[in-house]
Amino acid sequence: LSEGIELKNVSFSYSGNTQALQNLSLSLPRGQLTAFLGKSGSGKSTTVDLIMSLFQADTGQVLVDGNPLEDYNLNSYREKIGYVPQEAQLLNLSIKDNLRWSLPIATDEQILEACKLANADKFVIELPDGFDYVVGDRGNLLSGGQRQRLALARAIIRKPDLLILDEPTSSLDSESETLIQNSIQTLAGHTTIVVIAHRIVTIKNADYVY
Ligand code: ADP
Ligand code: MG
Repeated sequence: LSEGIELKNVSFSYSGNTQALQNLSLSLPRGQLTAFLGKSGSGKSTTVDLIMSLFQADTGQVLVDGNPLEDYNLNSYREKIGYVPQEAQLLNLSIKDNLRWSLPIATDEQILEACKLANADKFVIELPDGFDYVVGDRGNLLSGGQRQRLALARAIIRKPDLLILDEPTSSLDSESETLIQNSIQTLAGHTTIVVIAHRIVTIKNADYVY
């Protein structure tokens, strides 16, 4: 990503439903932290789904460095994106293998580094098997905040050009929320970030707010 991503007059409807997005224009400049704030159902997740090309706009355009998104190879485009959904789920594997699912060639050092950035290293080291700890079905042996921090580590281990966080702290205790907030702050400036939020605290450090 050299300039950024731009949505131009984008409209989108889920089949049979009223318009989720109507004539939406916005830009996500490279290296900046952009926040989307809005009530439930206002179209925030739909907007990031369009940016990831999970859906295509009915009218209007998504431009990546000025070129239509359709011109890119979808696999290589998505490889440059790190995505943390609202309630991230882990696989019933070790912590190492959960991160290698995102980057199979990751070394132990890279895994540790990603966990540090995501503020996940301290609790992992205290687990019985550390990075070899198997997290249970969907990660149910960990707390929601721990899962979310590992999901963030899994997203950033690839060093994405674009990091998308969909309400990453919505259901967390305030300690985990603060830790994730601090991670986002550390990543900001190096990475282009979109964070969907419903709380003012999440957006107070954003460069742009829609
Ligand atoms: P937000 O993330 O801001 O809460 P969404 O983008 O999820 O909002 O939803 C925008 C609108 O699209 C809402 O009216 C919602 O009900 C509708 N919607 C979202 N996902 C779907 C779907 N998979 N099928 C049909 N309608 C959907
Ligand atoms: Mg949403």
